[in-house]
Amino acid sequence: NLNNSTLKAELGQSSWKLIHTMMARFPENPTEDEKDALRNFVYLFGRLYPCGECATEFQKIIIMHPPQVSSREAASQWACAVHNIVNERLKKEIFDCGKIAEKYKCGCDETSTFYSS
Ligand code: FAD
Repeated sequence: NLNNSTLKAELGQSSWKLIHTMMARFPENPTEDEKDALRNFVYLFGRLYPCGECATEFQKIIIMHPPQVSSREAASQWACAVHNIVNERLKKEIFDCGKIAEKYKCGCDETSTFYSS
């Protein structure tokens, strides 16, 4: 019903916002530990995403397109590409991944190192 599709869309918008903003803040030169963390996040996100049908489809996408964790640029472009795969399936507009860097800002201190073990 309409109410449910609105809720599903809101969850999707918030989730994509979080994902793209995380990628925009991922280190330019990540350590092995940071790469593992992002890879694990993506796979766990794919398992735990609360819309079951979406999660199942997303898991298929990430098998074909494994998370790219070598740098901020690689991670951001990967997330943009998989979001576009979802867009295509849902018959939505394809986003220009060349514009990703300017779109997602976190409003946080860009100079601080935010990952620590
Ligand atoms: P959204 O797709 O939510 O995008 C939000 C905004 O992000 C857009 O307005 C645009 O400014 C920007 N954007 C668009 N494309 C990109 C891109 N490639 N890179 C960066 N920014 C971009 N819904 C379903 O009905 N079925 C599903 O199977 C499904 N699977 C999903 C799987 C995942 C992992 C996620 C996070 C969401 C899924 N959704 C699914 C929700 C769906 O993707 C949308 O979030 C929802 O339909 C709302 O769409 P929207 O048009 O508001 O834009």
